[in-house]
Amino acid sequence: MKIICIGRNYGDHARELGNAVPEEPVFFLKPTTACLYPGQPIRLPELLGEIHHEIELVVMIDSYAKDVPASMALGLIASFSLGLDLTARTLQNELKAKGLPWEKAKAFDGSAVLGEVELPMTASTDLQSFTLELKRNGTTVQKGSTRDMLFPVAELIAHVSRYITLEPGDLFFTGTPAGVGPIAEGDLLEGFLNGKRLLNVAVAKG
Ligand code: ZN
Repeated sequence: MKIICIGRNYGDHARELGNAVPEEPVFFLKPTTACLYPGQPIRLPELLGEIHHEIELVVMIDSYAKDVPASMALGLIASFSLGLDLTARTLQNELKAKGLPWEKAKAFDGSAVLGEVELPMTASTDLQSFTLELKRNGTTVQKGSTRDMLFPVAELIAHVSRYITLEPGDLFFTGTPAGVGPIAEGDLLEGFLNGKRLLNVAVAKG
Protein backbone atom coordinates (compact mmCIF):
# COMPACT_ATOMS: atom_id res chain seq x y z
CA MET A 1 0.00 0.00 0.00
CA LYS A 2 1.21 3.49 -0.76
CA ILE A 3 -0.06 7.04 -0.60
CA ILE A 4 -0.03 9.01 -3.82
CA CYS A 5 -0.56 12.74 -3.46
CA ILE A 6 -1.41 15.16 -6.23
CA GLY A 7 -0.03 18.68 -6.07
CA ARG A 8 -1.48 21.84 -7.62
CA ASN A 9 -4.72 20.24 -8.81
CA TYR A 10 -6.86 23.33 -8.18
CA GLY A 11 -5.85 26.48 -10.04
CA ASP A 12 -6.73 28.84 -7.16
CA HIS A 13 -4.45 26.91 -4.77
CA ALA A 14 -1.55 26.74 -7.26
CA ARG A 15 -1.82 30.51 -7.63
CA GLU A 16 -2.03 31.25 -3.88
CA LEU A 17 1.41 29.62 -3.47
CA GLY A 18 2.80 31.38 -6.54
CA ASN A 19 3.09 28.13 -8.54
CA ALA A 20 2.41 27.81 -12.26
CA VAL A 21 -0.76 25.88 -13.17
CA PRO A 22 0.59 22.49 -14.35
CA GLU A 23 0.11 21.01 -17.82
CA GLU A 24 -0.02 17.45 -16.48
CA PRO A 25 -0.63 16.06 -12.98
CA VAL A 26 2.11 16.65 -10.39
CA PHE A 27 2.46 13.78 -7.93
CA PHE A 28 4.57 12.67 -4.98
CA LEU A 29 4.43 9.81 -2.46
CA LYS A 30 4.09 9.48 1.30
CA PRO A 31 5.12 6.27 3.10
CA THR A 32 2.61 4.17 5.05
CA THR A 33 4.15 5.50 8.28
CA ALA A 34 2.63 8.88 7.36
CA CYS A 35 -0.92 7.60 8.04
CA LEU A 36 -2.67 9.17 11.00
CA TYR A 37 -5.75 7.10 11.78
CA PRO A 38 -9.04 8.34 13.27
CA GLY A 39 -8.81 8.97 17.00
CA GLN A 40 -5.12 9.83 16.94
CA PRO A 41 -4.17 13.49 17.49
CA ILE A 42 -1.89 15.43 15.19
CA ARG A 43 1.45 16.21 16.83
CA LEU A 44 3.58 19.12 15.72
CA PRO A 45 7.29 18.27 15.96
CA GLU A 46 9.32 21.42 16.53
CA LEU A 47 11.92 20.64 13.89
CA LEU A 48 9.34 20.86 11.10
CA GLY A 49 8.37 24.51 11.70
CA GLU A 50 4.99 25.80 10.46
CA ILE A 51 2.60 23.04 9.36
CA HIS A 52 -0.28 23.78 6.98
CA HIS A 53 -3.61 21.99 6.55
CA GLU A 54 -4.64 20.83 3.06
CA ILE A 55 -8.11 19.26 2.93
CA GLU A 56 -8.42 16.76 0.08
CA LEU A 57 -10.75 14.19 -1.42
CA VAL A 58 -9.10 10.78 -0.86
CA VAL A 59 -9.95 7.72 -2.94
CA MET A 60 -8.94 4.14 -2.19
CA ILE A 61 -7.92 1.69 -4.95
CA ASP A 62 -8.97 -1.95 -4.60
CA SER A 63 -6.98 -3.81 -7.26
CA TYR A 64 -3.67 -4.08 -9.05
CA ALA A 65 -3.47 -1.94 -12.16
CA LYS A 66 -0.93 -0.61 -14.63
CA ASP A 67 -1.48 1.65 -17.66
CA VAL A 68 -5.18 2.09 -16.90
CA PRO A 69 -7.06 4.20 -19.43
CA ALA A 70 -8.99 7.09 -17.84
CA SER A 71 -12.23 5.52 -19.11
CA MET A 72 -11.63 2.49 -16.83
CA ALA A 73 -9.98 4.23 -13.87
CA LEU A 74 -13.04 4.94 -11.72
CA GLY A 75 -13.78 1.21 -11.66
CA LEU A 76 -10.65 0.71 -9.54
CA ILE A 77 -12.01 2.82 -6.66
CA ALA A 78 -13.52 1.00 -3.68
CA SER A 79 -14.29 3.93 -1.43
CA PHE A 80 -13.57 7.58 -0.73
CA SER A 81 -13.26 9.95 2.18
CA LEU A 82 -11.50 13.14 3.16
CA GLY A 83 -7.93 13.52 4.32
CA LEU A 84 -5.43 16.17 5.34
CA ASP A 85 -2.17 16.37 3.44
CA LEU A 86 -0.18 18.06 6.22
CA THR A 87 2.69 20.12 4.87
CA ALA A 88 5.67 21.69 6.62
CA ARG A 89 5.36 24.83 4.49
CA THR A 90 8.47 26.78 5.46
CA LEU A 91 10.61 23.69 5.02
CA GLN A 92 8.92 22.89 1.70
CA ASN A 93 9.62 26.41 0.43
CA GLU A 94 13.29 26.06 1.40
CA LEU A 95 13.54 22.71 -0.39
CA LYS A 96 11.75 24.04 -3.49
CA ALA A 97 14.07 27.05 -3.63
CA LYS A 98 17.05 24.68 -3.67
CA GLY A 99 15.44 22.40 -6.26
CA LEU A 100 15.44 19.50 -3.76
CA PRO A 101 12.78 16.79 -3.21
CA TRP A 102 9.93 17.63 -0.80
CA GLU A 103 9.82 14.47 1.31
CA LYS A 104 10.99 16.06 4.56
CA ALA A 105 8.14 18.54 4.31
CA LYS A 106 5.45 16.13 3.09
CA ALA A 107 6.21 12.54 4.17
CA PHE A 108 6.79 12.89 7.91
CA ASP A 109 5.02 10.68 10.47
CA GLY A 110 1.34 11.57 10.78
CA SER A 111 1.31 13.77 7.67
CA ALA A 112 -1.50 11.82 5.96
CA VAL A 113 -4.54 12.34 8.18
CA LEU A 114 -7.41 9.99 7.31
CA GLY A 115 -11.11 10.67 7.73
CA GLU A 116 -13.14 8.57 10.15
CA VAL A 117 -15.99 7.90 7.72
CA GLU A 118 -15.41 6.13 4.40
CA LEU A 119 -18.13 6.09 1.76
CA PRO A 120 -18.48 3.29 -0.79
CA MET A 121 -17.98 4.08 -4.46
CA THR A 122 -21.14 3.22 -6.39
CA ALA A 123 -22.21 3.47 -10.02
CA SER A 124 -24.00 6.75 -9.26
CA THR A 125 -21.12 8.43 -7.38
CA ASP A 126 -19.97 11.59 -9.14
CA LEU A 127 -16.56 12.40 -7.66
CA GLN A 128 -16.44 15.67 -9.59
CA SER A 129 -19.47 17.26 -7.95
CA PHE A 130 -18.44 17.35 -4.29
CA THR A 131 -18.09 20.36 -2.04
CA LEU A 132 -15.09 20.09 0.28
CA GLU A 133 -14.88 22.20 3.41
CA LEU A 134 -12.44 22.41 6.30
CA LYS A 135 -13.34 24.10 9.56
CA ARG A 136 -10.64 25.09 12.02
CA ASN A 137 -12.10 25.62 15.50
CA GLY A 138 -15.55 26.02 13.94
CA THR A 139 -14.52 28.60 11.30
CA THR A 140 -14.40 27.68 7.61
CA VAL A 141 -10.83 28.04 6.32
CA GLN A 142 -10.99 26.03 3.08
CA LYS A 143 -13.96 25.48 0.79
CA GLY A 144 -13.96 24.29 -2.79
CA SER A 145 -15.61 22.06 -5.34
CA THR A 146 -14.12 18.99 -6.98
CA ARG A 147 -15.59 20.43 -10.20
CA ASP A 148 -12.63 22.81 -10.13
CA MET A 149 -9.97 20.09 -10.23
CA LEU A 150 -7.57 20.76 -13.11
CA PHE A 151 -7.37 16.99 -13.69
CA PRO A 152 -10.37 14.86 -12.67
CA VAL A 153 -9.79 11.76 -10.53
CA ALA A 154 -10.00 9.38 -13.50
CA GLU A 155 -7.16 11.24 -15.25
CA LEU A 156 -5.04 11.31 -12.08
CA ILE A 157 -5.29 7.53 -11.70
CA ALA A 158 -4.59 6.94 -15.39
CA HIS A 159 -1.57 9.25 -15.34
CA VAL A 160 0.05 7.80 -12.22
CA SER A 161 -0.55 4.22 -13.39
CA ARG A 162 1.62 4.87 -16.45
CA TYR A 163 4.59 5.20 -14.09
CA ILE A 164 3.74 3.20 -10.96
CA THR A 165 1.76 -0.05 -10.57
CA LEU A 166 -1.28 0.53 -8.38
CA GLU A 167 -2.00 -1.97 -5.61
CA PRO A 168 -5.01 -2.78 -3.42
CA GLY A 169 -5.25 -0.28 -0.56
CA ASP A 170 -3.41 2.52 -2.33
CA LEU A 171 -4.72 5.96 -1.43
CA PHE A 172 -4.88 8.96 -3.75
CA PHE A 173 -4.91 12.38 -2.10
CA THR A 174 -6.32 14.37 -5.00
CA GLY A 175 -5.16 17.92 -4.26
CA THR A 176 -6.41 20.84 -2.19
CA PRO A 177 -8.46 23.95 -2.97
CA ALA A 178 -7.29 27.43 -1.87
CA GLY A 179 -7.19 28.56 1.75
CA VAL A 180 -4.30 26.50 3.13
CA GLY A 181 -2.86 27.85 6.36
CA PRO A 182 -1.08 26.99 9.59
CA ILE A 183 -2.41 24.77 12.37
CA ALA A 184 -1.61 25.21 16.06
CA GLU A 185 -1.61 23.16 19.25
CA GLY A 186 -5.13 22.70 20.62
CA ASP A 187 -6.86 23.17 17.24
CA LEU A 188 -9.87 21.10 16.21
CA LEU A 189 -10.01 20.37 12.47
CA GLU A 190 -13.22 19.10 10.86
CA GLY A 191 -13.62 18.11 7.22
CA PHE A 192 -16.99 18.08 5.45
CA LEU A 193 -17.96 16.56 2.13
CA ASN A 194 -21.28 17.91 0.80
CA GLY A 195 -21.94 19.09 4.35
CA LYS A 196 -21.39 15.68 5.96
CA ARG A 197 -18.55 15.48 8.47
CA LEU A 198 -16.09 12.76 7.45
CA LEU A 199 -12.95 13.96 9.24
CA ASN A 200 -12.46 15.13 12.80
CA VAL A 201 -9.03 15.49 14.34
CA ALA A 202 -7.46 17.41 17.19
CA VAL A 203 -3.99 18.91 17.28
CA ALA A 204 -2.35 17.76 20.52
CA LYS A 205 -1.43 20.28 23.18
CA GLY A 206 2.26 20.56 24.07
ZN1 ZN B 1 -1.90 18.39 -1.00
